[in-house]
Amino acid sequence: MSLNGKVALVTGGAQGIGRAVVQSLLQSSAKVAMVDLNKDLGEECKAQLDAEFGEGNCTFIECDVANGDALRDTFQNTVDQFGHLDIVINNAGITNEKDWEKTIQVNLSRISAPAVKAHVKHDHTSDNKTSVIKGTYLALEHMSKENGKQGGTIINVSSMAAFMHSPHQPVYTATKHGVIGFTRAMADAAIQGDYGVRIHALCPAFVDTPLLQSVEDEDNMGKFVKFKDDFKRSMSKFGVLQPSLIAEGMMRLITDTSLHGAVMKITCSKGIHFHTYEPMSA
Ligand code: NAD
Repeated sequence: MSLNGKVALVTGGAQGIGRAVVQSLLQSSAKVAMVDLNKDLGEECKAQLDAEFGEGNCTFIECDVANGDALRDTFQNTVDQFGHLDIVINNAGITNEKDWEKTIQVNLSRISAPAVKAHVKHDHTSDNKTSVIKGTYLALEHMSKENGKQGGTIINVSSMAAFMHSPHQPVYTATKHGVIGFTRAMADAAIQGDYGVRIHALCPAFVDTPLLQSVEDEDNMGKFVKFKDDFKRSMSKFGVLQPSLIAEGMMRLITDTSLHGAVMKITCSKGIHFHTYEPMSA
C-alpha cells in the first residue's frame, strides 16, 4: 500500500529495527524523519537512503529521546520540514542493567515529582517526561483530532521480554511490560476520546541487531552478565529474526485501519501474530 503524502517519525532509526522500518516507509513513498542519538551513523544512513530513494524524502535529526525538550523540538522540526505528521514509531531502546535508571529513561520515561504534577495538569511543556511516554504525548499533540489534527498511527516498541521473564534483563523486562500497559491504556483513551489515532505495541522476539551483542558486555549488563550463556541458550532455542520481518509487522500495523490497540508479537515459531486478552471482569 502506498503511503504517499504521509509523514513518519522513527526514533532510533539509524540502526537495527528502526533502520529497517525507515527503509520500508521510504519504499512505500512516505517522507521520514529518522531520529537518533548517533550522529555519525545517522548521517551515514541518510546518505545511503538519499542515494536509494532520492533526496528530500528522508531527514536525519540528531536527538536523545531521553531529553524531553530535544524530543519536543524534533517533533516540531519534522512538522516544519514536511508540513504535518501521520506516523510515529517510538522505537529507540537500550538494554543496560548496570545503568538501569538510564534504561528506564530511554525505554519508558523519566519521572520526577514535578513531572507527575505536570502530567496531572496535562502540561507537556516540562522536560521531565521522556522517551516512549513523551513520544506518545508529542505524537498526539501533532496528530490527535482533539487538537484539530488529522489523526494517525503510533507504534510503541516493546519486546517478547514483556511476556517472558529472564534473569539477565530484569529492568529491561520491566520497561517493556510498562510500554505495553501504557500503550493499551492510551489506545483506550484514543478510542474513548475520539483522537483518530490508532496506538499499538509491537513485541519482537530476538532480532539480529547490534543490541543483541550488548548483552555480552559487563559494561551493559553489570552483575547479570554472568547469565549470558543462559541468554545465548534462549537465542538458539527461540531463534533470531531479521529486522525486515519486524518492519513488515510495523507496516501492517500502519496500513490495516481495522487494528486499534493491537499488541503484535513476532516470533520465529509463529511469525507475525497478535496477543489476545480476556475481557476484564469484576
Ligand atoms: P539497536 O541497538 O540495534 O538500535 C537502536 C538505535 O537506537 C541505535 O541507532 C541507537 O543509536 C538508537 N538510540 C539508543 N538510545 C537512544 C536515545 N537515547 N535517543 C535516540 N536514539 C537512541 O537496537 P534494536 O535491536 O534495533 O532495538 C530497537 C527496539 O527494539 C528497542 O526498543 C529494543 O528494545 C526493541 N527490541 C529489540 C530486540 C532485539 O532482539 N534486537 C527484541 C525485542 C525488542
